[in-house]
Amino acid sequence: TDIGAQKDSVVTEEEWLRKWEMNNIGFHKEQGHPLLQKYLDVLLNGRNGLRIFFPLCGKAVEMKWLADMGHSVVGVEVSEQALKEFFAEHSLPYCEEPVPEISGAKKLQSTSGNISLYCCSIYDLSSSIVGKFDGVWDRGALVAVNPRDRQRYASLMITLMEKNSSYLLVTVSYDPNKHKGPPFYVPESEIKSLFG
Ligand code: SAH
Repeated sequence: TDIGAQKDSVVTEEEWLRKWEMNNIGFHKEQGHPLLQKYLDVLLNGRNGLRIFFPLCGKAVEMKWLADMGHSVVGVEVSEQALKEFFAEHSLPYCEEPVPEISGAKKLQSTSGNISLYCCSIYDLSSSIVGKFDGVWDRGALVAVNPRDRQRYASLMITLMEKNSSYLLVTVSYDPNKHKGPPFYVPESEIKSLFG
């Protein structure tokens, strides 16, 4: 079937690192995503000083937007290059420290303290390491996860959410027979079964 064509597709961590090295990052939006502007009120729901999570964050400029609004931002990304580019492109000083619970992982934190970016796989995280979040901006994340890992990803995301948190999810609608992804095609019905 149409979706069956993608269910065994895999993009490895090495392939993602290589995309960053080759600057093959067509997914990066320098101007930020218009849908975050459009649905910002839904994410914030009148609340201030939130903890917002950016799974598979790349160097998303929306992290800077939300930090500038007074929220505290946590991201996770396998490419250290992406995270360094983020801080450099916004002229933000940062410091680096190991993450004792995750071997080989690093945390890059803005000196001002309100942006903490974990350099590791999202599957290494848990709420005991990063805490829980009031909001999630999932753009280029669920749709970038290998289809076979979606259930694991969604279950983890649910454990990282506070009771009243809001989750903004961007998916891409297209003919999965014509493109192997990522982004992968995630049908509405699957989103319902993953997140309830
Ligand atoms: N959300 C970002 C980036 C989307 S592209 C944006 O909107 O621009 C997906 C990103 O996920 C890539 O930067 C890739 O390096 C990263 N990635 C892929 N698998 C990952 C994993 N298991 N854990 C953490 N990051 C991952």
